[in-house]
Parts: sequence; C-alpha cells; structure tokens
Amino acid sequence: MPWLQLFKTVGKAVIDFVFPRQCSYCGTVLTSQEEVWCTRCRLSIKYTNYFRMPLNPVYYMFSMFKDVIFGGALWFYDRRSLVANLIHELKFLRRKELAEPIGKELGEELAESPYVPKDIDTIIPVPLHPKRLKWRGFNQAEEVARHLALVLNTTVNTQVLKRIQETEAQSGKSLHDRWINISGAFALTDPESIRGKKIILLDDVLTTGTTLSHCLRVIEQANPESVCVVTVAFANKARF
Ligand SMILES: [Zn+2]
Repeated sequence: MPWLQLFKTVGKAVIDFVFPRQCSYCGTVLTSQEEVWCTRCRLSIKYTNYFRMPLNPVYYMFSMFKDVIFGGALWFYDRRSLVANLIHELKFLRRKELAEPIGKELGEELAESPYVPKDIDTIIPVPLHPKRLKWRGFNQAEEVARHLALVLNTTVNTQVLKRIQETEAQSGKSLHDRWINISGAFALTDPESIRGKKIILLDDVLTTGTTLSHCLRVIEQANPESVCVVTVAFANKARF
C-alpha cells in the first residue's frame, strides 16, 4: 500500500474512532468503509436495475412521448423502507444534505447505463411552485440534480421549465383527479435553450407518472433531441 493511501486509511479510522459516524437510517456506528448507511441497511435497499433494462415499466409509462428514449428509477419505494424514510427526511424534514449520496448513487448508475447518452446537455428537475419552494426552502429534485450533474459532468437547467399553477398535493387523489389537478401547471420560458438538446428530466418519486407526463407534454414542444426520464424512486406496484 502506498504511504499516502496508508496515511489516509489510518487517518479515517482515527477520525471515526474520535467522532463516530452513524448510519443515517438505523443509527448504528459506521465502520471506516461504510458511507451514509450501514451494510445491513444498504442491503435492504431494493434496486430496480432499470438502468440495465431498456424496456422497463418506467420507460413504458412515458414511451408515448416522441422524444423519450429511456426511462428509469434507481430504487423501489416501499412504505416503511429505508428509501421511504430517506425521501421523507429529504423533503419534509428538509435534510438537504441527503441529496448528495442520492445524487452520487444515481449518477454512478446512469454513467454505467448503456441506454443513457454519455453527453447529456442538461438536467431539468421537476420544478416546485414558487410558493411551495419558499415554504420548503429548496427543491429536492433540484438538489439531487446538482449532485447528479457533478457525476455526469453536465449542467442543471432550472429556468426553462416553470410551475405556473399551484396544485394540491397529488397523494390520495385518483388518476383522473390527478390529471385534472395538474393540467396546465407547467410552462416553458425559453424553449430555444433546449431545442436539439439531450435532456434528463428528473423527479424524486414516480407514482402514477401524471406530473412527469405534464412536464413532457410541455418539453416536447421545444423539440429536444432526446429525453431520459429519471427518478430516484418508483412507487408503482406493477413490477418486473
Ligand atoms: Zn443502518
């Protein structure tokens, strides 16, 4: 082992001993090899593996949009799971720092996917209405997008897609009511900025796909070259 590497490893172990880091889900003290979550919690996370499957349920949800070339989600979202807890803490307990491990993990999966272009021009996070943004203090999809953009060496565009209508919370609504609730909620401010571009459209949790479909309906008017629809978690019951 080279000296620098040895020094780093020993240094990390000493810091962990003096200031023990805890698993952000169960609170177990982490070893120097573990990051964010302990091994047991990490093993409980259910990966979809959709980034290695071009024809997956997420892609099928959006395949009717002409520009969508790929769709995928990183994890399955089950109630009372680490993933549900993580999303809850990020969104409602406003733990903005959790966007970093999520964005990194998502980035590593996307970078290895043969179905996602290597030269993505920009990532568009699903926007919040300015009122909700003010209440929460940040947009969780945008925070994840920033860390994802670092891994993929691309940019984040928070200007082009705007939420112009405040909508009621979608959970608890029927599919029909969701569609009515959110119709006309999004608009483009500068379509030229994404014309002919390779885009990732990013959201945190995918349930029925209503929100993302409305975003795509607006985005396709700008004629981008391609859109990959990507979410952190997928809460749909129908699985492969
Ligand atoms: Zn744990």
